[in-house]
Amino acid sequence: MTIFTKIINREIPSEIIFENEKVIVIKDINPQAKTHLLIIPKKEIPTINDIQEEDTELIAELFFVAKNVAKNLWVSDWYKLHFNVGEKGGQEVMHIHLHLLSNI
Ligand code: 5GP
Repeated sequence: MTIFTKIINREIPSEIIFENEKVIVIKDINPQAKTHLLIIPKKEIPTINDIQEEDTELIAELFFVAKNVAKNLWVSDWYKLHFNVGEKGGQEVMHIHLHLLSNI
C-alpha cells in the first residue's frame, strides 16, 4: 500500500482540497511553490509507464480536476502541471500523481 493510499484511507492525515469517487487532491507536505497540490487517482498505478488503455479516462480526469481546482483557488491565470516518472525522473512515491504548482 502506498503512502497516498494511506492518505486516501485516512490512515495518515493530510490537507485535502478536493475529493470525488476516483480522485483526491491534497497539499504537498513539502511545497515547492506558494500553491503545490498533488492530484492523485485513488487507483494505485505505480508510474505513468504502467497506465493501460482502460486508465485513459481516469488520467483525463486528473487534468479536468486540476483545471477546476486551479480555478477554485484563483491560480488559473498560470500554473504548472507535471508528472515525475521513475526514480531517475525524480519520482519518490510509486503511485501516480499530478503536481500542480503556482506562485500566484
Ligand atoms: P514525486 O517526487 O514522487 O513526484 O512527488 C512526491 C511528492 O509527495 C513530494 O513532492 C512530497 O513532498 C510529497 N509527499 C510525500 N509524502 C507525503 C505525505 O505524507 N503527505 C503529503 N501531503 N505529501 C507527501
